Amino acid sequence: MNLFTETNLSPDILKAIGELGYESPTEIQKQTIPFILSDIRDLIALAQTGTGKTAAFSLPILDMIDDTSRKIQLLVLCPTRELCLQITKDIKNYSKYMKDIKTTAVYGGSSIMDQIRSLKDKPQIIVGTPGRVIDLINRKALDFSAIHWLVLDEADEMLSMGFKDELETILSETPETKQTFLFSATMSKEVERISKNYLTKPHRISVGSINEVKKNIKHEYYVIGYRQKKEALKRLIDSNPNQYSIIFCRTRMETQEVADFLMQNGYAADALHGDLSQAQRDTVMKKFRLKNIDILVATDVAARGLDVNSLTHVIHYSLPDDPEVFVHRSGRTGRAGKDGISIALIKPEESRKLKQIKSVTKIEMHEGKIPTGEDIIKAQVGGVFESLFEIHEDFFEFDDSLIPDLSAFTKEELAHKLLQFQLKDLALYYKDRHDLMEQKLSSRDDDRGSRRDRDRGRDRDRSERGDRRERSGKPRKRNEDMVRFFFNLGKKDQLKKLDVLDIINKATAGKSKKRAEIGDIEILEKFSFFEVEKSFKDNVLSNIGSMKFKGKEMRAEVAN
Ligand code: AMP
Repeated sequence: MNLFTETNLSPDILKAIGELGYESPTEIQKQTIPFILSDIRDLIALAQTGTGKTAAFSLPILDMIDDTSRKIQLLVLCPTRELCLQITKDIKNYSKYMKDIKTTAVYGGSSIMDQIRSLKDKPQIIVGTPGRVIDLINRKALDFSAIHWLVLDEADEMLSMGFKDELETILSETPETKQTFLFSATMSKEVERISKNYLTKPHRISVGSINEVKKNIKHEYYVIGYRQKKEALKRLIDSNPNQYSIIFCRTRMETQEVADFLMQNGYAADALHGDLSQAQRDTVMKKFRLKNIDILVATDVAARGLDVNSLTHVIHYSLPDDPEVFVHRSGRTGRAGKDGISIALIKPEESRKLKQIKSVTKIEMHEGKIPTGEDIIKAQVGGVFESLFEIHEDFFEFDDSLIPDLSAFTKEELAHKLLQFQLKDLALYYKDRHDLMEQKLSSRDDDRGSRRDRDRGRDRDRSERGDRRERSGKPRKRNEDMVRFFFNLGKKDQLKKLDVLDIINKATAGKSKKRAEIGDIEILEKFSFFEVEKSFKDNVLSNIGSMKFKGKEMRAEVAN
């Protein structure tokens, strides 16, 4: 089955999906459509968002639904309001030419009375979040006696959001004769337990497994200390012009901070996180979909349910704990046959986490250098021409007589002037900025917001001083609080900066949560030097000797 026209779906459905541009079924659709059309067993499908799972279950169900009955036949449960609205919209699109089919969304955070009123329309399909569905059951506003199909979408997410009791109640309130389809990105213990208790001999399919990483996404990572992270982010955005991207953060506070920073610096960006009201979140998502903003800073949870297919970049401002989340985030770019770029900012002390992500996901990642002002201008020049060549229509009229005589200039001179005009602000900003890669790596893990402004100012002072010193050829002043070590391995041992960070982090990891600050790392051919905060000197001296790197003995001594 390579084309939808080869399925047995009704002409009304084929017409609707044809208008949406669907030609060939996705992998999960190839597996579920014939199964649901012909089998009565329950189903467990391991699949993530973006694989086309909404159409995978709803197209065959729409094909079989009884449009002469006005009873609820399909109930879809999903974790969030956004996803609920997205699924409802998709199903309404698929059933556009099925005049008697009605779909209603029910979710929390919105008037229950309005939803009860809309249920009076007698929809055959309900898409809801578990909490609100239970509320409506308690108010006797939902009649589940005729349910044929129950879909648990993102079951793992619903369970991790604490909907276990609600799910169990709904599963036991619906007729035993129903067919249940459980969709989940991961097969957690809880998901296994629910399926064991409530699904009967389910057929299992798995699509786009976690480790199946999309090949069309290029992965880059950049090691940068906390205090320089925002500046590094700015540079990475500037060196990737014309991007349409999501920047993932770990907390709501960090999300807002990063978005504020970008907005203050003139980017068309905004924040999406759970501290915003529903109306605010809707507005941000709408702006992003319409490309009124081209950078969305979001938490993982808030970004769920946001359905955009044309992201050029995904930026991991902070690494997630779970490697699967990393794959999931990255997979939001590189969709619909396009290439994508995933960029991760790594704090020095996160080297172990990065290694874990690499080894679990088998993703090939390349370490990049934070671009210098010069790199950025070069990239921007490319971006200006890319945008110019993309203009194929006249957006406004004007008389050629308004154009002055340009015959005194060559084509190149005109292009030069255009670029100077377009990139002037950026060039001025980066004119005297230092190269971030030449700065000391700082590993101080930090949520000490109140110190930030002070730190930022100090950083700038320090780097400007550093620049001046470099220009005048004098050696850099060593930080009094650091100890410089000689280390017996070097480039010949394939030692990389990230390995050294990892070794230091392991050697200095103690019971206390305090992390050692790491200074300069200099890798030479046969040996290396690194700096570590003085109070960790003994940990380095006593622990490194008992560790090995690629089977080789390691030795660190205080350098002269
Ligand atoms: P989902 O996994 O259901 O969130 O779907 C991801 C995206 O793929 C949505 O934007 C769908 O509209 C789109 N989509 C689903 N099935 C197909 C298909 N067979 N061909 C093209 N796009 C599809």
